[in-house]
Amino acid sequence: MANPRNAAAGSLRQLDPKIAAKRRLDCVIFNIQLSDGPSFETDSQSLDYLAALGFPVIDHPVYTSIEDAGAAIQALGNDRERYPFDIDGAVIKLNDLSAREILGATSKFPRWAAAWKYPPEQKETVLRDIVVQVGRTGVLTPKAVVSPVRLAGTTVTNATLHNQDFIAEKDIRIGDTVILQKAGEIIPQVVSVVLSKRPEGTVPYHLPRNCPVCGAVVERDEDGAALRCTGAECPAQLVRNITHFASRDAMDIEGLGPAVVQALVDKKLITSAADLYTLDPQQVASIDGMGERSALNLQKALEKSKTRGLTRLLTAFGIRQVGAKAAQSLSRKFQTLDRLMAASEEELVSVEDIGAITAKSLVQWFSSPQSCHLVERLRTAGVSFQSTEEALGEALAGKTFVLTGTLTRFSRSEAKKLLEGQGAKVSGSVSKKTSYVVAGEAAGSKLTKAQELGIPVLTEDEMLAMLTAI
Ligand SMILES: [Zn+2]
Repeated sequence: MANPRNAAAGSLRQLDPKIAAKRRLDCVIFNIQLSDGPSFETDSQSLDYLAALGFPVIDHPVYTSIEDAGAAIQALGNDRERYPFDIDGAVIKLNDLSAREILGATSKFPRWAAAWKYPPEQKETVLRDIVVQVGRTGVLTPKAVVSPVRLAGTTVTNATLHNQDFIAEKDIRIGDTVILQKAGEIIPQVVSVVLSKRPEGTVPYHLPRNCPVCGAVVERDEDGAALRCTGAECPAQLVRNITHFASRDAMDIEGLGPAVVQALVDKKLITSAADLYTLDPQQVASIDGMGERSALNLQKALEKSKTRGLTRLLTAFGIRQVGAKAAQSLSRKFQTLDRLMAASEEELVSVEDIGAITAKSLVQWFSSPQSCHLVERLRTAGVSFQSTEEALGEALAGKTFVLTGTLTRFSRSEAKKLLEGQGAKVSGSVSKKTSYVVAGEAAGSKLTKAQELGIPVLTEDEMLAMLTAI
């Protein structure tokens, strides 16, 4: 068991005692908590009594000096391997039970016992290779393959290397002799490199620049140490990506949840979202739990999804940083996928809600051969690349409005939408850059500030007149 403590606790929690019995749990007794019959003067007496009854009990040697007890703790630590269970420390207790009574306890711990924790066991071994796995979110995870070594109760053959920064910081190289320990006594990790044992000819290790599964470019997360595959059709991320493609906020394909996607991938019926549109209903019907009726319904749902429009399609692509809101702004601005794909980074940054990072992410995504392939196949399948968002007016482009006070003719968000629909920006605070302040009833400090700065103030009616004149 990777974690014996959890395995034991989980087994005891089984509702059916027969199942718990099958787990072959064992125990070793270290204490009598309460005795109704026999009475004892010392701790060792009580454990000897249990042992005589046939209970397995822990080793309980008695020492008469603290020096001897200290030496015994050291010896026990050096000899941990001979126990059939893992230990991470030792406890010294007062043997005399009446002396325990006198010493008593604080609110947190007894005064008659103390624990000594051993430092985690460490072992030297040779790092033979570094393998890189790609997780379902596309993150590349490096793992050390080491010569088998016995460590804290299990045989270890690999260890976590976390990420590129961890490897660089410790300068871990293939061929190095490394020191391993278990973090939290479970996952082995590399503590350090034994530089004196470094063979000649080793080189610093760098994670690949391309995904080891699909070959797409690997990008570092803006906000962290993780390296991530950017492949639109990366097999390692396939189930997750297609489930996202079909999700309610994206193409909203009813009946295409994670389980069905997994089954389609397992049967090798799809290797890309575009494959959804060429699925053979008969093959779909042959999947466990599907049947002809479900296959037909899925077919209808897929057909319906072709007309969702550009906003949802952009959301469905799962481009990093491009959520539903950014997708809507892009869709409104460019109206068709082809116009968006032709946009430069500068043009993208000028769009509402699109920052430099998002713009870069978009340009990169659209320039990848995998993405272009996906787009062309979707085009062939008849998926709409047309925006359903109303195109932005340009009449108020470059103007900034501030709304203040209580509006009576519209809600704040309605007014905001009307202004933004004509290309205006709506801001929350008045500054020299503000073009107009729209003041409703009981307008306060913002109105005062506008008057101080000499910014034109409009009533609601004046704003409406301005909009209808366009
Ligand atoms: Zn990949």
